[in-house]
Amino acid sequence: MPIYEYECRDCKLVFEVIRSFGSADLPLECESCKSDKIERMVSNFYSMSSGPISSTGHSSCGSCSGGNCSSCH
Ligand SMILES: [Zn+2]
Repeated sequence: MPIYEYECRDCKLVFEVIRSFGSADLPLECESCKSDKIERMVSNFYSMSSGPISSTGHSSCGSCSGGNCSSCH
């Protein structure tokens, strides 16, 4: 399960919670001051930029690097 990072707006505590998918925005209270003003921080978990690009028509054919030679597509 993914680990989400939250910050308490009241005491500025940052803590991590392991939650299931779809539970990230469910109400949560601060571990320290029990405030419910919790803000979810952007996590690296959602960074998918390193994955392969597919079905966009811009992948290279292997004989070139730009994806726009005569044997591409
Ligand atoms: Zn707090």
